[in-house]
Amino acid sequence: MELETLEFRNDLALYLVEDSSPRRSLLLTYDILWSRYDTFLSSQETAAMRRAFNAQPIVERAFRLIQRHEQAVLNGDRERLQNLLNEIDIVLPQIRNLMVNNFTGPASIEQRAFLDEKIKVMYAAMFILTLVLIFFAFRLYRNSSKQQELAWQDRLTGLPNRNYLLDCLYKAVQQNRIHTLLLIDIRRFKDINDLMGYEQGDKALTKLASQLNSICLPYGYPCARVSSNEFAVLAYSDGRHLSFFTQPLCDSLRRAIDSIYPGHRLSLAIGIAKSLDVDTHSGNSHWQFANELLNNADLALMRAKQAPVTKDSIDTFKTEYEQEAQQRRRLRDELKAHLIDPYQDALYVAFQPIVSADPNRLGCEALVRWHHPEYGPINPELIVNVAEESGLGQRLGTWILQQVHLALNTEWQSINTHIDIAVNLSDSFFNESLIADVITIFAKHPEQRKQLIFEVTETMTIDDIGRFSLLMNQLRDVGIRIALDDFGTGWSSMAVLNHLSFDKVKVDRSFVTGMADITRQQVLVDTICHMAHQLGIHVVAEGVETREQLTSLQQMGVDEFQGYFFAKPLSAIDFYAFCIDYLNQKNVLLSKQSIKNLFNINNF
Ligand code: C2E
Ligand code: CA
Ligand code: CA
Repeated sequence: MELETLEFRNDLALYLVEDSSPRRSLLLTYDILWSRYDTFLSSQETAAMRRAFNAQPIVERAFRLIQRHEQAVLNGDRERLQNLLNEIDIVLPQIRNLMVNNFTGPASIEQRAFLDEKIKVMYAAMFILTLVLIFFAFRLYRNSSKQQELAWQDRLTGLPNRNYLLDCLYKAVQQNRIHTLLLIDIRRFKDINDLMGYEQGDKALTKLASQLNSICLPYGYPCARVSSNEFAVLAYSDGRHLSFFTQPLCDSLRRAIDSIYPGHRLSLAIGIAKSLDVDTHSGNSHWQFANELLNNADLALMRAKQAPVTKDSIDTFKTEYEQEAQQRRRLRDELKAHLIDPYQDALYVAFQPIVSADPNRLGCEALVRWHHPEYGPINPELIVNVAEESGLGQRLGTWILQQVHLALNTEWQSINTHIDIAVNLSDSFFNESLIADVITIFAKHPEQRKQLIFEVTETMTIDDIGRFSLLMNQLRDVGIRIALDDFGTGWSSMAVLNHLSFDKVKVDRSFVTGMADITRQQVLVDTICHMAHQLGIHVVAEGVETREQLTSLQQMGVDEFQGYFFAKPLSAIDFYAFCIDYLNQKNVLLSKQSIKNLFNINNF
């Protein structure tokens, strides 16, 4: 009955929509529906159904409705048929409910209502869930873009960081793009932090970074801050004619540095490495290639940093730098082993005599020596450098002091005069633990500490003059004297002399060498002597090679002399022999008379 009502309703609707629609189908479904209602309302079999669920009045109402419109159906009266359709649409859900009630009972209706309700709740929940998801997705996006930023960007300066640079480098290698890497170091940047505070230091870095960025931007060269005071630029150029870029780069950074810190103490060191110079042997992965380039730029930068700190310097990687770096690595490993091997004899300390006009004194300078089986004699400055850069500076310093202590306690003890030993201190050795080291090494012979003179250089004092002065006083308290080495080669020798009280100054070899020809040098040495004596400081001249040099130095009043004229650095046993000879009146300085005799100097 429900289906037939529905079918008639649909035919009716179709007839009303389409003008040309034939009425035959409508009449047929009308007849069927008529007889269906009729049968339902009159047959015996449906009597029980009619009583149930209030079916009788509902179906009667529907039957009366179609009966009322019989003429309209037969005539195709559209207007009335439209009314019929409207009314059937009201009757149809009642008949549908009747059917549902009849077949499934009221529980089903309740269930449907319950389900309808549930569906509504579900839609609401889904809506809320979607909102929550969108919120979380947004937060996730924001966090990940922040993480991305942190991963690629330097927080302080806003410049890209080392990771970003490595990525650019990797991509350049991958795309076979010719490139050149520049590493830029701001030397003595620590001064800004120390003297002006970290806030100014940060501002200075930010300024330099923005300057660098504005230079690189027009060329499309990526730049980055790769460590605290080091920047890098990846120039997409073969590097052969890079001055079009490096010149304005240096000029602009120099201007920025001068505006930040007009004291001219900071300088730029730039190391350059070209991709064309990287060894492209097969099997080299992109990463290895990029790392090698970075390593080459680092080596070039190290070279650039060897220039005096007072001026800007640029160096470009050359293949021999890598060989030197390999040699340094090997020396580092071997030095480390030698320092703990009591049986090795390749590394030793030599002693160069320092003679004095005072007949009761004789001295020497302890100088490290290394006879390498493959490389031959290693330059002592290289030994010290290798030790310093590999963290062995302190160990080497301790080892040298131990050798000095050993030497003092050999046959040297039988020398019947006071022997001073000058020991060079490296940067890392001159620190708070030095005193403890000295006390331990000289524990059995504390009186020998009076024989020690520690030689320091001006650059060691500059970083923190207050701390330096404190350490100096502590050393003095245990009987050690301090000499200022290489006097006159630095910038602020006078300032250092003014602020710190030294026992000796050592006039640098370059003054002594140049003295014979250049009167200016003579005047300078003369002045240094005069000034030092006024301050109660002894003057030592190093690099005395000739009789003439000795004579004029003596005339100027230099107190002690060191140089090849007397002896080259000697082994401990040879130094002992020298002392015996010297003290057996072979000495040229014992008395004014002997000098006159020996050097034939009439006006002395
Ligand atoms: P320095 O402290 O100025 O040492 C003096 C240097 O001058 C020594 O060079 C010595 O051999 C050389 N010399 C002395 N007299 C003459 C001379 O008449 N003519 C010439 N041409 N040279 C002379 P050396 O031994 O090559 O040492 C070079 C530098 O290496 C030293 O300069 C010092 O800075 C450093 N050094 C050497 N030994 C040690 C050490 O044990 N510890 C530390 N920290 N540094 C050391
Ligand atoms: Ca020295
Ligand atoms: Ca010196």
